[in-house]
Amino acid sequence: MRVADNVEVLELSMKSFRGQTIIHPTLTWDDDTVVLVDAGFPGLLHQIREAMARAGVPFDRLDKVIVTHQDIDHIGSLPDIVRESSHNLDVLCHEEERPYIEGRKPLVKMNQERLSKMLGSVPEERRQQMEALFANPPKASVTTVVADGEVLPYCGGITVIFTPGHTPGHICLYLNQSKILVSGDALVAADGELRGPNPQSAYDMETAMKSLKKLTQYDIETVICYHGGVYRDDANTRLAELASAAH
Ligand SMILES: [Zn+2]
Repeated sequence: MRVADNVEVLELSMKSFRGQTIIHPTLTWDDDTVVLVDAGFPGLLHQIREAMARAGVPFDRLDKVIVTHQDIDHIGSLPDIVRESSHNLDVLCHEEERPYIEGRKPLVKMNQERLSKMLGSVPEERRQQMEALFANPPKASVTTVVADGEVLPYCGGITVIFTPGHTPGHICLYLNQSKILVSGDALVAADGELRGPNPQSAYDMETAMKSLKKLTQYDIETVICYHGGVYRDDANTRLAELASAAH
């Protein structure tokens, strides 16, 4: 789905712990640089290639992948993307998130306790697949660390907003030109509504709620939620409402 001249929301289909679902990485570009925000579940390289081709921005033009955070549905296909790229891809994330993405620390949500909770009701075959994935999670080298408030000088300017809570080093991205917030998992869209972070998947819910306040400092016309897609209904007012629930 095209949301601005140089911004496309990809729609990738993946099988999650809870069944089939759609996830929404964001693609943005200018004449020199093509940026993908988040890299899907493992095994989605083919879908990413096809979605980029449909958007008119071939995979071979991809220069940078910005990772909002370490969760498996955001880094899963990153190793494949890096390997298949025809040039040296730049991989960006917040410093807090780097050791997890590089495999030097275990992913914060991939522990045995969480695994048993999540997989309690899934079929045996699926459970084995997920356990194998947890035993050997995807990883990739991070080439560039980004910081809160930094404006990345491409695609009309991309402002980094440090929004910890869902994970320790979660970031949102504000596309300056189009006033689009790429929210990662700091926000969720469902049934036409914009909602706060999902408590079930939050690493630290209180911090995640506090992070919402930061988002109210931006003039936002469109929110792209990784889970739930595009939200456009008076986003500033809705964000202020959500942020006021934080202590
Ligand atoms: Zn996610």
